[in-house]
Amino acid sequence: MSSARIVFLGAAGEVTGSSYLIETDEARVLVDCGMYQGQNADGRNEAEFAFSPGEIDAVVLTHAHIDHSGRLPLLVRRGFKGYIWATDPTIELAGVLLQDTVKLMAEEAEWRSRKNSRRGLPPIKPSYGEKDVEETIRRFRYVRYDEKADIARGVSVRVRDAGHILGSAIAEIWLGGGDGERKAVFSGDIGPKDAAIERPHTMIEETGYVVIESTYGDRNHKSLEDTRAEFRAALEAAVKSGGKILIPTFAVGRAQRVLYEIKRLQADPTFPKMPRIYFDSPMGEKATRIYEKYSALLSREIQEMTRAGDNPFRPEGMSYTSGVEESRAINEESDAIVLAGSGMCSGGRIIHHLKHNLWNPGCSVFFVGYQAKGALGRRLVDGERRLRIAGEDIAVRASMYTLGGFSAHGDRDDLLSWASGFGGNASFFVTHGEPRSAEALAAGIRETGRAAAVPSAGSVYDLSKSGAAFSGKKAAAAKDPGRLDALKLLEEITSETESIREGLTSREDFAAIMPLLESSRLILRSVRKTR
Ligand SMILES: [Zn+2]
Ligand SMILES: [Zn+2]
Repeated sequence: MSSARIVFLGAAGEVTGSSYLIETDEARVLVDCGMYQGQNADGRNEAEFAFSPGEIDAVVLTHAHIDHSGRLPLLVRRGFKGYIWATDPTIELAGVLLQDTVKLMAEEAEWRSRKNSRRGLPPIKPSYGEKDVEETIRRFRYVRYDEKADIARGVSVRVRDAGHILGSAIAEIWLGGGDGERKAVFSGDIGPKDAAIERPHTMIEETGYVVIESTYGDRNHKSLEDTRAEFRAALEAAVKSGGKILIPTFAVGRAQRVLYEIKRLQADPTFPKMPRIYFDSPMGEKATRIYEKYSALLSREIQEMTRAGDNPFRPEGMSYTSGVEESRAINEESDAIVLAGSGMCSGGRIIHHLKHNLWNPGCSVFFVGYQAKGALGRRLVDGERRLRIAGEDIAVRASMYTLGGFSAHGDRDDLLSWASGFGGNASFFVTHGEPRSAEALAAGIRETGRAAAVPSAGSVYDLSKSGAAFSGKKAAAAKDPGRLDALKLLEEITSETESIREGLTSREDFAAIMPLLESSRLILRSVRKTR
């Protein structure tokens, strides 16, 4: 093997859309194929890939979260024919998450199509359907933790526990063999050192290259002890204020963690009596069953409780809500703890709970997860007091609690300590973080004498054999950089179109924008003709 390179397709300068392409002379392997989330995400998710899906030999999926797995069905739909390698629990959780995603996309497309038809615009088609998800699930192949597997010509992988969510993996990838062999480690998402329900993340000792996430590269979380004390105080205050306690939460990982923390508090006789608990998420129920099934892969605390015959994810007085009617019926109750998705309040059942309760000063909202820019959850956290939710203007009087310590991501110290486990020759690519966070982590790594770069989206880096040649500068693009740049631009144009479409309201001055739109179309057509 003479050369190898890595293309940073997504999660470059931002948190979502994780996807990296490794190319050697013999193989092309994708690590993750995630969705973008937050503002203008739709257009970017539907855009062309910066490669031909049919030319990809294999995919390694680090974990089930949609920002790592969400575009896999699109990859399959557009011609990917290889296998997707992941741990057993990741395969099961990804199945659950992708089925939910396809349902949400279909609902949204239907809603937008109805809106469009009233304006004489064409219907919207979701970017993939159930069949694509089924085909994706068929393409999964499992890898066991700590065992090496060959996945493409000259490419092998070994996954190690990342301690982020159940099944999450750090991927060690070897390229080529013999003299030409080089290695790159992909952190995936790294859990905190003192995770409560996951096992601690694995330290890895040697490699030429590391792609490291940086969600919290510029911040430290509270300790586990302080987080628990904070949650206890917040929940106690919220229970006493008597209204609903809404917990927007991801169905996988965070929800199980919150249920477990509630369960621990119930064991404390000094804690006030809690109202009924609704886990208002059919997907959450499925995910919890998978957590129960694979409890042997979870933390010592969880295993001990399970061995003692107790279920760590089932606090007293908790019920799952499956039907939509049951979910609506919760609106009739004055007090209850409600866990529902989506975690960033960008859709799902949490929307109707927010709509019915935010006006109430007795209501409390607990944010236990990351809130991307532009998401409704972020706007609530940022203190907006008037919002439009599901077509209604809502005045926000509820109390907001942000519990950052619940993160399933390691903080700055955790990431730096994980990075310090590698030998002195490792070079780092810092991804999966907002620019400030990524730059801060890169600076921290450089202080330890190692090279660190923050790659921009679409950038290509050569992976030299030694790894030492890496100087934190973007290498000359090895393969048709023009194409990647052009695709990136097209992606931006698509997302621009998307936000114009979103902004079209009845008050819009169509006369003013029509000529601009028509000339844009003319320009784009002439681009097509020059090809
Ligand atoms: Zn994740
Ligand atoms: Zn992630």
